[in-house]
Amino acid sequence: MKIGLRGGHSPNCKGAIGYLDEQAEVRKIYYELAPMLQAQGHTVINCNSDEYNQNADLNKGTNTANANGCDIFISIHMNASGGAGNGTECWLYDASNGTMNTIADRICQNFAAKGFKNRGRKYNTGFHDLNATRMPAMIVETLFCDNSHDAGLYNTLGAKGIAELIAAAIVGQTVSGGAVTPVQPSAPVALGSGGGPTINFKYRVRTKEDGWLPEVVNLADYAGIPGHAITDIAIGVDRGSLWYQVHVKGGGWLPAVTGYNINDYNNGYAGNGQVVDAVRVYYNTPADYAAQYGYQKAQYRVAPLGGNYYPWQYDNETGGGQDGYAGVIGQAMDRFQLF
Ligand SMILES: [Zn+2]
Repeated sequence: MKIGLRGGHSPNCKGAIGYLDEQAEVRKIYYELAPMLQAQGHTVINCNSDEYNQNADLNKGTNTANANGCDIFISIHMNASGGAGNGTECWLYDASNGTMNTIADRICQNFAAKGFKNRGRKYNTGFHDLNATRMPAMIVETLFCDNSHDAGLYNTLGAKGIAELIAAAIVGQTVSGGAVTPVQPSAPVALGSGGGPTINFKYRVRTKEDGWLPEVVNLADYAGIPGHAITDIAIGVDRGSLWYQVHVKGGGWLPAVTGYNINDYNNGYAGNGQVVDAVRVYYNTPADYAAQYGYQKAQYRVAPLGGNYYPWQYDNETGGGQDGYAGVIGQAMDRFQLF
């Protein structure tokens, strides 16, 4: 077969960002998968793009496949849902092509054999890759890049291991061997990895025992001292703006503040000297930055006194298992991280 193959998105027009950078990783999968298919006797047409906007990027892929008269088109992606969703799904235009149905099912089965959830074969006539191609086409959503389990499995398998699962499915094989052990990611991909300049969040916390602790920038450290309950938080950012607020243990949410100045108790930090149990941060992406690199979010987490970190919170989101804030009401916290 002549296979139009594409690692989704462009280095200049990124896809989803989570524990993994979708675009960077699916491009690695492409470069592993292409030679595997060639070794099976297939011709591979490179349908990748380095375009700067989404329409041009999508058109580049499907135009290349059409111009080369490919027999099938396969576009490799990673999903995202705010952290809760996981697993593998394959999208087709409709159910009319038996070969594509079979490949889609085998891909999902092969991923499931390694520990991914099988979300199955799905249809959508609205996706560009599926409706702008003149040949049977498939979008492979390999995994959820913002889900720690899926990212962990990816860390173990690598781009090569993932490519092997897809290659086997295309040549009509199912894989053997059981599920692999995920290597859990420690932190999401940093802001600014969408290709834009790094956004530096600086922050510090106060405890009753220590007063104000030193400033931390992004994930260089955490703010706090294990065992010492945080009472106040101050946050600044070197690009764009933010607002943040804390919830007092046994009390309520204090008013949101926007400044970063421990000597300004009105707007320079969040807190009133009492132990806090939750914090909420929202990042406003500058319009020019958002237009070029996409909207960015405050990504932050806290740890309860002497315990392990709770999951990462993005802005004030409530989807995908998030509460809209970091922390557990009623539980004092002793460490805070933000980037
Ligand atoms: Zn994608």
